[in-house]
Amino acid sequence: MPSERAPLPIVVTGGAGFIGSHVAEALVGAGHRVLVIDDLSSGKRENVPDRAELLVADIRSEEARAVMAEGGFEVLVHHAAQMDVRRSTEDPMYDASVNILGTLGLVKAGLSMRGERGGLKQVIFASTGGAIYGEQDHFPATENHPTRPLSPYGVSKLAGERYLYYFHAEYGLDVTCLRYANVYGPRQSPHGEAGVVAIFTSKLLAGEAPTINGDGRQTRDYVYVGDVVRANLAVLGEPGFRTWNVGTGVETDVVELFDELRVLTRSDFHACHGPGKPGEQRRSVIDGSPLRRKAELPEPVGLATGLGETVEWFRRQAS
Ligand code: NAD
Repeated sequence: MPSERAPLPIVVTGGAGFIGSHVAEALVGAGHRVLVIDDLSSGKRENVPDRAELLVADIRSEEARAVMAEGGFEVLVHHAAQMDVRRSTEDPMYDASVNILGTLGLVKAGLSMRGERGGLKQVIFASTGGAIYGEQDHFPATENHPTRPLSPYGVSKLAGERYLYYFHAEYGLDVTCLRYANVYGPRQSPHGEAGVVAIFTSKLLAGEAPTINGDGRQTRDYVYVGDVVRANLAVLGEPGFRTWNVGTGVETDVVELFDELRVLTRSDFHACHGPGKPGEQRRSVIDGSPLRRKAELPEPVGLATGLGETVEWFRRQAS
């Protein structure tokens, strides 16, 4: 995969959010022209890098589709999504509307002027390695593990991937689906459902004891946002249809995570346990080594290092 590229015109949806803003920043830093489309529903204006433009719009809006239809953008790096698993179970229609119809609308619009005025050539799709496989048969899951999502969110992300395959097969659109593990790092919001690292860190720094759901022995694969950014840059310009896991292959349970954060925040709280979340996946860990090998990416950032960076960022925000 090429690492040095000519500057490209790129739309980053969700570029005011946690992961999208880091990706937008790296793309701008590499000399690309970036337009962020974000409705600021959970993202923040100040997360958008200075040298990127921002269109405040819902990805399902006429305005957002019109930008794609103008034909001036070659790459869509698609991070805007309804990404709250619990909300997806309460309101699967809304989840599907944003994650499926929103994706379809942008891609269709991007392809509409293809050939005449440039148009869309590649989509990099933020998919999920945490929710797409369901309860795993093997650990860590490789990309060819069966997909049996257990939430409407996982289903809508899988549907997004399958629609993109259709657009690849029918229109020759290059598509790379990046299935992220549990991403953590600076700028992650402690509000809402996602982001146990952000929730625990902000509570511990505020002198409050966080609650661990159930026995805390449920495991996840925590990947630092810097590794996710590297993966996005590595697949820019990748031809064909590809699906890659972006994870560390390391399983960490919530109690271990809490203990690491307790040390880093110099807190002496003991974990207090609440009821387990019904239907919560027990173990999740994915193998991200194929993309690392192919793109010659470094080994993932270790948990202690990544958490250290994250705690420092939260500390600076708090002061
Ligand atoms: P985030 O909430 O910080 O970012 C999402 C951004 O999308 C926000 O800025 C929000 O304002 C925007 N957005 C939401 N709905 C929109 C809409 N209808 N129109 C326009 N903008 C809209 O979340 P994140 O953690 O940065 O996640 C980014 C992407 O990565 C999502 O697609 C998510 O499904 C995927 N992902 C995240 C994780 C993780 O651990 N955080 C794991 C797997 C996949």
